[in-house]
Amino acid sequence: MDMKAMDRQILGDIWTSGESYETLVHLCDVIGHRFGGSESERHGAEYLKGKMVEYGFENVHIEEFPMASWGRGSCSLSIAEPIDRELSAIALPYCPSATITAAMIDVGDGEEEDFERLGEEVRGKIVLTNAETNKPGVKGRSHRNDKFARAIAYGAVGCVFMNQNPGLLRITGSLLGSDPTRDDAASREAAIPGIGISYEAGMTIRRFAKKSALSLTIKTDNRTFESTSRNVIGDIPGSEFPDEIVVIGAHFDGHDVSQGAGDDAAGTLSAMEAGRALAAFKGTIRRTIRIVAFGSEEIGLLGSNYHARTHCGQTPQKTYRFVLNLDGAGRGETGTEFLRVLSLPDVQAYFEAAQDDMNYRFDVADVYSQHSDQFPFAVRGIQTSQLITMERSGGLVGRGWGHTEADTVDKVHLRGLQVSAALGARLALRIAQDDTFPAHRLGEDEVRDQLTRAGILQRQIDEGVFPPRN
Ligand SMILES: [Zn+2]
Repeated sequence: MDMKAMDRQILGDIWTSGESYETLVHLCDVIGHRFGGSESERHGAEYLKGKMVEYGFENVHIEEFPMASWGRGSCSLSIAEPIDRELSAIALPYCPSATITAAMIDVGDGEEEDFERLGEEVRGKIVLTNAETNKPGVKGRSHRNDKFARAIAYGAVGCVFMNQNPGLLRITGSLLGSDPTRDDAASREAAIPGIGISYEAGMTIRRFAKKSALSLTIKTDNRTFESTSRNVIGDIPGSEFPDEIVVIGAHFDGHDVSQGAGDDAAGTLSAMEAGRALAAFKGTIRRTIRIVAFGSEEIGLLGSNYHARTHCGQTPQKTYRFVLNLDGAGRGETGTEFLRVLSLPDVQAYFEAAQDDMNYRFDVADVYSQHSDQFPFAVRGIQTSQLITMERSGGLVGRGWGHTEADTVDKVHLRGLQVSAALGARLALRIAQDDTFPAHRLGEDEVRDQLTRAGILQRQIDEGVFPPRN
């Protein structure tokens, strides 16, 4: 069957099926948050495994791995001075138990220049920072943990992350461990408490702080403990080159405060639906398509790290030709598909040219992102990309509803899932079928160059991520 005929069948199949949305509803409404290392995540894995068998994938199995999970207890934040005022707050995953009162210092976006400007003033204080940097024109757009690492380096005793979207939504997101080079529970627990508050609570603090110096009290009680997480894996075996593997995947775990519908049940169901449509061609796809639902992404890319470490070492049994990560795909109602290619000019050119042949437009750009499941593969020289879509409702910035209680099923739409599944399937098909696809495993020096260009080499060396440990 030629590519065009396969495209037609994929599109017809996906556009006439409600399977992806029904599965997503069950995963979110019935199974729940699927937090890394929790019972809910285990149930989610069993459910997805059953679906993979039903879709006709082969070699379907759950890949378990040891990890440190985290359990939420109580959390309170209050203004201690100049008035007594309680504000709603949640602890972030890996936040230690703590009771502290200290002066507050507002670092705004928490970019390097903000901390440099304040210097020694940060020491001994509780930092208030925007959880994300979204200002147009700002060059650095640091991740939460870049800000957290700076707060610690400048001597802060606590960190309060403020949501940038209104709606009384307290923002979450895991914290960097006290020893990022180790995985045990004690090393995984953060060095200082980090908590999340709403936009409105943050603005309240800022209004009081304008009038006089202000101190905050954080009281929180949590638990970091050894547990087990898992990836769910199924294959559509290749007919000519079964040992050459094209991964299409996404993380199925979510944050414990939400349903994790947009982040990332939507990506998972986009990948599953792509696999379901591709499974119809079993026996004619030349290389193996491997569908992977990764566990514990939200708390440190743990599932993808484990999988990359055990399958993509120096002398792998099988060759990973490409990893297409759908974390962030399937959201919104279409028209915002964006393929981030991780510093691979020839792959980027291939995807740009493929749009003519596919008669389908999507954005392609060179964005080296280390904050999702493609990264553990990328540091091992495997070529990767991340397909994302945007939820544009309500003028939201940054993660939108993601990482808040409001990341619920009602924000996800069948059409969004269909569009991402169809694009994911058609891209994976081309990577698997087309001998002109510029497949190439990068050597350590090439990866070093990529990390240098992205400005993140030293941090990866410090955290023991690069060179990769196999
Ligand atoms: Zn995600």
